[in-house]
Parts: sequence; structure tokens; C-alpha cells
Amino acid sequence: MSRWCSNQLSYVPPMDAHSKDAPRGVKLFFANSLIFVIFEKAASCAPGEPIRRRVASTSNINNGALEMPNTPYPSSYYAATANPAPARPALEEAKQADVCVIGAGYTGLSTALFLLEHGFSVVVLEAARVGFGASGRNGGQIVNSYSRDLDTIERSVGVEQARLIGAMAFEGGRVIRERVARYRIDCDLKDGGVFAAFNAKQMQHLESQKALWARYGHHELELLDEQGIRQVVACDRYIGGMLDRTGGHIHPLNLALGEAAAVESLGGVIHEQSPATRIERGANPVVHTASGSVTAQYVVVAGNAYLGNLVPELAAKSMPCGTQVITTEPLGEELASQLLPQDYCVEDCNYLLDYYRLSADKRLIYGGGVVYGARDPADIEAIIRPKMLKTFPQLKDVKIDYAWTGNFLMTLSRLPQVGRIGDNIYYSQGCSGHGVTYTHVAGKVLAEALRGQAERFDAFASLPHYPFPGGQTLRVPLSALGAMYYSLRDRLGF
Ligand SMILES: Cc1cc2nc3c(=O)[nH]c(=O)nc-3n(C[C@H](O)[C@H](O)[C@H](O)COP(=O)(O)OP(=O)(O)OC[C@H]3O[C@@H](n4cnc5c(N)ncnc54)[C@H](O)[C@@H]3O)c2cc1C
Repeated sequence: MSRWCSNQLSYVPPMDAHSKDAPRGVKLFFANSLIFVIFEKAASCAPGEPIRRRVASTSNINNGALEMPNTPYPSSYYAATANPAPARPALEEAKQADVCVIGAGYTGLSTALFLLEHGFSVVVLEAARVGFGASGRNGGQIVNSYSRDLDTIERSVGVEQARLIGAMAFEGGRVIRERVARYRIDCDLKDGGVFAAFNAKQMQHLESQKALWARYGHHELELLDEQGIRQVVACDRYIGGMLDRTGGHIHPLNLALGEAAAVESLGGVIHEQSPATRIERGANPVVHTASGSVTAQYVVVAGNAYLGNLVPELAAKSMPCGTQVITTEPLGEELASQLLPQDYCVEDCNYLLDYYRLSADKRLIYGGGVVYGARDPADIEAIIRPKMLKTFPQLKDVKIDYAWTGNFLMTLSRLPQVGRIGDNIYYSQGCSGHGVTYTHVAGKVLAEALRGQAERFDAFASLPHYPFPGGQTLRVPLSALGAMYYSLRDRLGF
């Protein structure tokens, strides 16, 4: 059944409403971020190491213009172990649907699935393949909450909106588990995630985070002392940590592929190799591709770091960033269970954090680092392997089988940007790193808004959007400078 819905939202800031925040944005940028490129330089070229493995490009976007279709998945452990999936045909005609979703990552697929479950007709346009972007390449860590703490959100939008946003902080993990169960998605789901602290300051932060999350109704966290963390991870650099039993890990590409199959099982249509090249705005927006179009009541823009300049208003206030992942050869049961005896995923508490976990076939999947501006590093193994060996020197003779890079979208506040352009173009983007859970909630919230229940959408939409000072030229070096400052603080433990 096709269903149209009310468009009455109680609070959706128009795009230009955010411009009044610009002076604060500038302040925030220089105060909070005054920092991050030298790091990038140091991180992206390790001298003396031969270039052993090059990777497929992070992006199908070149200077804001989408390249020709037929983009394959980048080479990765996930692509090599993906469940069988059909190649979906490109859009070759003029179609109509209640909703046209741009992008088949978690945001787009989650939105499509919630809409289909409520009777909407949906066409999803994907520039490359389902899960081609961050959703098919990430660390696979189900990390609850957002990239900034709830007290920051509270200060930014007030108690009432923060209460709604805080209540959703642990919902994404539940959405994923519900999807996996209902649609029988085979994606190696495991429970349990750990935040690991290097020093007393980070431990104090975890303690206050636990108290803060409890204030928002989340009591699932358990602090770990030095002995406790040793039972979770065989690394003597940590002094403690925090266990989230509702965290966990997945094979991210197989989750996306399973969600795409669920979309199709409900009558949704996905066109791959179909980059949206233009959105004709109006009462019934038309999304154009090279050889077809979709006329819809609503458009949902879910291209995140791979969107390029399709919607210039969105490009102006966000910055694509790369992060890199390596995967070892299979370690065998014994070594794998020595490293991570509970099979939880781990991320450390540094500003530029390392994240790692075991795969179903007992390899170590290890990620870290940030490349501001999302250039593809030449030799990923040279960047990430030393980080892995710092954590697990016992892996010095282990071979790396896969290395890849992917882009996430950073915002100045590191909080997601959610909103509506005109009456009928909705978007969610820029969760700045922790996106596996957020994107699943975002899909639910966007679908609620299209069904006329906008309270939770309005809460996210009330988060201010700041443009990057310095524009496209200076945002990368300034951000890198900022990150360098925070990394130095992490290293010095203050
Ligand atoms: C290497 C890496 C590791 C990460 N690790 C973690 C982690 O462990 N835990 C965590 O919580 N988060 C992690 N993240 C972040 C998380 O993966 C992302 O926040 C999340 O997947 C974003 O989902 P998305 O659907 O918004 O965007 P994406 O998954 O990037 O999907 C966007 C899609 O839109 C398509 N698209 C773009 N433009 C167009 C267009 N014009 N027309 C049609 N289609 C278009 C793209 O091809 C792409 O498939 C990681 C990110 C990366 C890159």
C-alpha cells in the first residue's frame, strides 16, 4: 500500500537558520579543534617501508563529480567474505515512488526498511553497490551513543531535546539486533564492546560517562579495573576500561547486504550503479541519474561522505575523512582467544582512537588513524600495522591479508546533521565516526518524520550545524592541527 503523509513538523530549522550559529561555530572550531595535518603526514607515510599493498580508492567521487558507474567493491576482508548478493540493475527509466532514497548504506537502507514496513513505496538509488561506502568497510563495532557526550548535547540544545536524543543513544544496537533476528541476516553478530583506558584521566572520563549515561536511563555499563581489562584483552597498556554488554560486532557488509535483501522482500527497489546526478526541487522532486529518473513525494539524502557536491548546502558544512583497517591472516583459536578471550570488540579512549576485534574466522581486524580530507594513503599496512603491534607485540610474525580505507563524514561539532531542505528533501549525515548504531536510529527517525511523527526528528534537527571555517581549502589543515593537539594531550595523559 502506498501512503502519503503529513509534512507538518514542529521544528525543522531551515538551512539558513544555522548561519546565525556561525560565530559560535568559528569559536568552537578554533577552541575545540584548533588542531589536526602534521599528524596526518606522520601517519600516512612511514618512511623506509616498501609499498606492499595498494587499495581501491575510497571514493567514487572526483572533485564533486561522480565517476562512471560499474564501480566494484574496494578490495577488503568484507568484500572477500561477502554473502552472495544479486547485482542490481541500474536505473534506465522514469519511475515514481513515495520516497526516493539516495545511497544504500545503513542510513538509506534503514530509512527504506522502516518506510516499507509502514506501507510506503521506495526506490533506492546507489551510486556503486549496496554497502559500497562506510557501511560495507567499517570496523564492524556496534558502539552505542554518539561521537560527543550527552552533556555536550544538553548544553547545546537544552534539557528537553537532549532527553530525547539521550533516550535514543542505545537504540541503534537494538534496531540492528531486531533487524538481524526478523530478517535472519547472517552477519556474525556478537555481543559485547569495551572502551579501553590508557591513563587515569581517561578512566575518570569513563566513570563520569557511565554516570551520565545512567542519568539518561542506560544502566548497561560495567567499569573494569586493571585486572578486569586483562580478562578482556591481552594488552598491558590499559589501566582499565568500561564494558558495554549491549555493544558488540558484526560483519558490516553482510549486515548491509542483508538489509538490502529485506528492503526487496518488502517490495522496495534498489538500483545499483545509479548515481543521482541532480535533484530537481519542487512539490514533487525528481531525482535524475544518467539514464533515468525517480519522481517522488519525498527524497531522503543518505550519501554521507560519498555524496560529493550533489547537495551543495550539505557539502559546505561537513568534511569527508578517511580511516584505515587491516586484517591479519587467520590466527587460529588458541592465539585468537589469548588476545581477546571474551571475543568483545575494543576501542581505546584516545582522541584518534584504535579499534579492533576478531572476525568469525579468527583474524584480527584492526583500524585506526584519520586522514582529514579523505585522501587515499599509499600504504595502509605501513600506517596501521605499527599501531597493531604496539597493542599486540605478540603478532610481529603474523601476515596482513587485507588492508583498505573508507570515508566517514566529520562535522565541526562531531554531532550528526539532520534536517529538511524545502518541504520534502530530508537528510541525515555526519555522525563523525560512531555511525553503525546512529545510522540505524536515523533511518527510524527519518521514517517517523515522513509518517508525520516528527518529535524525535526535531530533536536531532535542533542540533546546530556549523560551517567549517576556512572553507574547503583550510578545513583540512586546521582540523589536522586540532587533532595533533588532542593526540599530544592523549600521549601526555592530560
Ligand atoms: C573504515 C571505517 C571504519 C569505521 N568503523 C566504525 C565502527 O567500527 N563503528 C561505528 O559505529 N562506526 C564506524 N565507522 C562509521 C560508520 O561506518 C558510518 O558512520 C556509517 O556506515 C555511515 O553510513 P551511511 O549510510 O550514512 O553512509 P555510507 O555507508 O557511506 O553510504 C553512503 C552511500 O551513498 C552512496 N552515494 C553517495 N552519493 C550518491 C549519489 N549521488 N547517488 C547514489 N548513491 C550515492 C555511496 O556510494 C554509499 O554507498 C567507520 C567508518 C569507516 C570509513
